[in-house]
Amino acid sequence: MGLQDITDRITKAATDAGRDPTSIDLIAVSKVQPIGRVEAVLDQGHRLFGENRVQEAAGKWPALQERFPDAKVHLIGPLQTNKARQAMELVTAIHSLDRPKLAQTLARLAQDLGHCPKLFIQVNTGEEPQKAGILPAEADGFVAECRALDLPVVGLMCIPPVEETPSLHFALLAKIAARNGLTGLSMGMSSDFEQAIAFGATHVRVGSAIFGERVKPA
Ligand SMILES: *Cc1c(COP(=O)(O)O)cnc(C)c1O
Repeated sequence: MGLQDITDRITKAATDAGRDPTSIDLIAVSKVQPIGRVEAVLDQGHRLFGENRVQEAAGKWPALQERFPDAKVHLIGPLQTNKARQAMELVTAIHSLDRPKLAQTLARLAQDLGHCPKLFIQVNTGEEPQKAGILPAEADGFVAECRALDLPVVGLMCIPPVEETPSLHFALLAKIAARNGLTGLSMGMSSDFEQAIAFGATHVRVGSAIFGERVKPA
């Protein structure tokens, strides 16, 4: 547990997979964590964090970034269109682009703001009705649609169903990304980031294994 342990495990998983460890970004998922734990990880020199709610990120990060100006935040949770502008001003990447309406909103705002965070399209690899994300069969079309809107799509993201073998989902996500010429793969959490790295993850999203169990549900 802890940042150093996770960094070591990432290095080992990458090396075992014949990959360069520096090709994998560790997103420390700080949602719902007490601020002291987040500060401790910042003090250890880590600079990339993940939040799943715009509201929570907006309440926490501007103050932290005054003290740690090079700290960056990625949005990894669902994004409502009415929070899109605020998100775009706050984060350097959004991992939850999951529907045409959001793509259109982001494209319009990108014109307005003159910039856009890097985008990952979330794919619902398990085709779970309650889960966000584009269905695998619709992913190619949606990638094309986002590109036609000039959106900076850099990769795909998935959250495998809890009760299934994650590797199958990581493999599927990697396959969809490859055939669409996308190099970014946001996959792997505390319980499965090593497997995700074996399947090509470029961004692993690790929360509780770094910070400890979340004290409130996310
Ligand atoms: C909370 C969360 C994580 C981190 O989960 P852990 O199991 O604590 O590592 C990763 N990705 C998303 C989208 C999350 O919401």
